[in-house]
Amino acid sequence: MARYTGPVCRLCRRENAKLFLKGDRCHTDKCSIERRNYAPGQHGQGRTKVTDYGTQLRAKQKVKRTYGLVEKQFRATFDKADRMKGVTGENLLMLLERRLDSMVYRMGFATSRNEARLLVRQGHFLVNGRKVNIPSYLVRVGDVVELKEKSRKIVRINEALDGVMRRGIPSWVELERDAFKGTVKTLPVREEMTTPEFQEHLIVELYSK
Ligand code: SF4
Repeated sequence: MARYTGPVCRLCRRENAKLFLKGDRCHTDKCSIERRNYAPGQHGQGRTKVTDYGTQLRAKQKVKRTYGLVEKQFRATFDKADRMKGVTGENLLMLLERRLDSMVYRMGFATSRNEARLLVRQGHFLVNGRKVNIPSYLVRVGDVVELKEKSRKIVRINEALDGVMRRGIPSWVELERDAFKGTVKTLPVREEMTTPEFQEHLIVELYSK
């Protein structure tokens, strides 16, 4: 599946928010948003009139870029959320959080979702004891995500695990650091998805046109 391969800090600057796409660097003063907090490009510092459509588009792009999806994948996830019972916007965020790459990131095996996606694709993880290398795989409550025995010496993963407390673990996952495994305790909770700030109702408005 295609994905964006350009400079990721540009995406944060375009959305005027920290999307945490670059791992540890995002938590330091080297973060581009801290240094140049304006949109990239020739007209980035100019004043532009923002329409309703523009606001909705930016809200959608912010979520899509945070989870590293292309439009086709994002739209398919939205359509799935729309068919579910409950609030479509919240369903959308829950589905995105339930992706295996997102869970791997949340559990602390990687410092960013991009890195987590790569690790999943390379086949480093087991879900309930079976190898899963599909980043979009949706985990369920009770699933156990475990790093393969052979991958436990990878320095990058160990460094990420050591730094996870600094980044914070959400309440819906539980990490057993020494066993290199994490458990999905509950479904993701909307109230804890606060960084970056999402306005999912605007995405529903955008796609309802
Ligand atoms: Fe770059 Fe991370 Fe800062 Fe975004 S949050 S601008 S990805 S360093």
